[in-house]
Amino acid sequence: MKNKHVIVVGGGPVGTLAAYRLALAGVKVTLCEAGMNCAQDLRASTFHSPTLEMLHEVGLVEEIIERGLVAPLYHFRERSTGEILEFDLAEIDDVTEFPYRVQCEQHVMASLVAGKLDAHENAEVLFDHRLVHFEQQENGVTASFETGIDITTLKADYLIAADGGSSTVRKWLGVEFEGFTYPEKFLCLSTKKELADFIPDIAYVNYVSDPSEWMVLLRVPSVWRILVPAKESDNDEHLLSDTYKEGVFDRLINDSSVETEHRTIYRVHQRVAKNFSHGRVFLVGDAAHLNNPLGGFGMNSGIHDAWNLTDKILTCLTDGHDDALFELYDRQRRTITHNFIQAQTKQNKAILEHGEEQGQKMRLAMMREMHENADKRREYLLQQSMHSSLADATAIV
Ligand SMILES: Cc1cc2nc3c(=O)[nH]c(=O)nc-3n(C[C@H](O)[C@H](O)[C@H](O)COP(=O)(O)OP(=O)(O)OC[C@H]3O[C@@H](n4cnc5c(N)ncnc54)[C@H](O)[C@@H]3O)c2cc1C
Repeated sequence: MKNKHVIVVGGGPVGTLAAYRLALAGVKVTLCEAGMNCAQDLRASTFHSPTLEMLHEVGLVEEIIERGLVAPLYHFRERSTGEILEFDLAEIDDVTEFPYRVQCEQHVMASLVAGKLDAHENAEVLFDHRLVHFEQQENGVTASFETGIDITTLKADYLIAADGGSSTVRKWLGVEFEGFTYPEKFLCLSTKKELADFIPDIAYVNYVSDPSEWMVLLRVPSVWRILVPAKESDNDEHLLSDTYKEGVFDRLINDSSVETEHRTIYRVHQRVAKNFSHGRVFLVGDAAHLNNPLGGFGMNSGIHDAWNLTDKILTCLTDGHDDALFELYDRQRRTITHNFIQAQTKQNKAILEHGEEQGQKMRLAMMREMHENADKRREYLLQQSMHSSLADATAIV
């Protein structure tokens, strides 16, 4: 397959892994990333167990586990009462070799994979290459990249667009990105302060429910990350100020002196592209869909897109191009994005923020009932770990 060529646009977690899987299968791959290296920002930090199985397939899982934290437990916490519902992924160890989440920053994985790709004989990694345009021919795709000094043009059999939420490829395709943007902003603070010294029995992953200030508390090897909602009307300068940070930590652990490593504001969207497959050009990851981070599904579902798509590309490179296979990619991944990722992330947010009193009581009762009932708890664990969504997508014909 070395005379077959695939261009992957975007050196995030989804693009690097899609490219690596194709290179390992013997395809010539060019990964083009606009930045001078893989982005180092703090976004995804949870690898769910089906994703760990995929990393295992390409020989990366040990290195990710080594660089991360193994988290079999996660907590749903009620902030006002201190009630904790603990979930243990060990309960699904009959369906997976990896019955846990791994807490590791996405940039650690993207940089690791980009390095391996660069060293691979089938692959080329081109940083400082921003896709500016592409055209499709009957048998391939031509794409143009702006570098610091010129415009370079590459030709390939297929192009995978893993160029993130603002995808240039999606915009050129003119594909609608249907959905909405939440009015509130999300503020992410990180600190080296050990929260376990203040919050007894805290897990590495904690969803903390509260009507006025819900939180997600996540441990990664270097820091604790605290995600809180912020009002639309609060300006960014205020949200990033010491005063605001002091208030968050004062309310959380009664210590406003905590020092932070990062303070980042995110706008959060629920959006899905109208079609993921366009001739010989395909959308994956954030280029195809965006969702809120509650549950840790964004990057994971993007990696699941990449697996589904690269299966089909490998079949077509061997047996000849078949539009029907790529229509199936669109049906499988877009349906599951709507039915599970979008629906579940909206529900995860509603559970944390509560809303009016009646709804709050109902949601709490639902969480408790699910936690106490072994069958319901198992169903929930299979859902939240993304095993169910992966199986449901594969079942779509
Ligand atoms: C606060 C927060 C927490 C999150 N936590 C989680 C979590 O725990 N688990 C989870 O699964 N998800 C999480 N997510 C979502 C996750 O970060 C994204 O889903 C993930 O980054 C998507 O990866 P990607 O490779 O598709 O896109 P990106 O990571 O956005 O990468 C796109 C890449 O394309 C490059 N690019 C853009 N345009 C061009 C161009 N024209 N030419 C060449 N290159 C280009 C960019 O420079 C970038 O490197 C979180 C998100 C946020 C905001």
